[in-house]
Amino acid sequence: MARQNDLLMDISILYRSTQKYYDKKLANLSLTYAQLPILIAIYEEEGISMQKIALDGGYDKGTITKNVQKLVNLGYVIVQSSIKDKRAKELYTTDKTKEVMNQIYSIRRNWWKHIIQSIPSKKIEEFSYLYEDMAENAKVFADKDDEQVQFFDHQKVDLSFYTDKVSTVLSTAGCNFRCKHCTKRNLIFLNENRMELNLEDIKNFLEKRKDIYDAVCLKEPEPLMHEELAPFLRYVKKLGYLVKIQTNGSYPDRLKSWIDQKLIDFVSLDIKNAPSYYGETIGIPNFNTDIITKSIEILKKGQIDYDITITLIKELHDTNRLKEMAGWLKGVKQVTLMSNPSTMVENYHAFDQNEMNEALHIFKAFIPNIQIKGEAYVSGREA
Ligand code: SF4
Repeated sequence: MARQNDLLMDISILYRSTQKYYDKKLANLSLTYAQLPILIAIYEEEGISMQKIALDGGYDKGTITKNVQKLVNLGYVIVQSSIKDKRAKELYTTDKTKEVMNQIYSIRRNWWKHIIQSIPSKKIEEFSYLYEDMAENAKVFADKDDEQVQFFDHQKVDLSFYTDKVSTVLSTAGCNFRCKHCTKRNLIFLNENRMELNLEDIKNFLEKRKDIYDAVCLKEPEPLMHEELAPFLRYVKKLGYLVKIQTNGSYPDRLKSWIDQKLIDFVSLDIKNAPSYYGETIGIPNFNTDIITKSIEILKKGQIDYDITITLIKELHDTNRLKEMAGWLKGVKQVTLMSNPSTMVENYHAFDQNEMNEALHIFKAFIPNIQIKGEAYVSGREA
């Protein structure tokens, strides 16, 4: 597995080392690695068009045009109109190119000899086929306009996240925060070999259960990062499901837009800490909490049902921060405090019962509707 995860890095090292070598060796010809495959393509197929080079090499039009122009300016290539079709342009190498091609091939052979040294020829052959297939797949996929949402986790039944509702919970991947206490890192820093779930399977699941389940929930990592989620939510709403979204509050404009479009029915806004300690908590120094305030204000308008959730952690939430946080949230409809020892990552610890009760008192001074969630603290709840 680890090999697959390192593949991208290996490809990157190979590419950058190759580029460094060629740029050094080609400097006396005023050429760079970027122009080399294009010059070779023209030399090996005199009269080739820019479009064909772009197609064969997976280049975009701008890159090809720029590099062909450089080759023309350096006197290595000439562009001619085709005899058959005056509008079509054909590329030819000049005598200057023909004089240096042996030198270029020799540079190329030396590099190849160097990088394959001590590798058995059978392995080289296998790798060469494999690499060719992967390059072809990459070319096709990179050109694909794939805007469909991708899910990476599906908890089929949940009875607690959306209170009093039977829900199914989906997770997208990725988050714009870098909280050290995050429990979703495997869905933020995706391994190369982590495949998305089959969207058709998910849709079949939802269609078959639309009369049994009440809601579809989207949990962290941050679902609002994904603009492409909107069409899926539209589809889910058409099936008759309620939709609950958990968010870190950093996409207020999209939140407002989805509320306005009635794509969501309930928002769970996860507040991480007091404004003065927010950046530190989410791993983004100098983070401007105005954006979170904007999300809070949107929810406070009461257009949608919502809850503010706070996971309390000993190492992050001292009394001063709790007071600052409670003051900041003054006026919200409801806050839920949580602190579950089983969801703490290494070096972070949940509040004990006394600490939860103390937090409850602090928040109550600002927010009348405050509750504690989690079995461990039920006995600590105020009547
Ligand atoms: S906002 Fe949530 S998902 Fe994102 S890094 Fe923080 S804890 Fe993890």
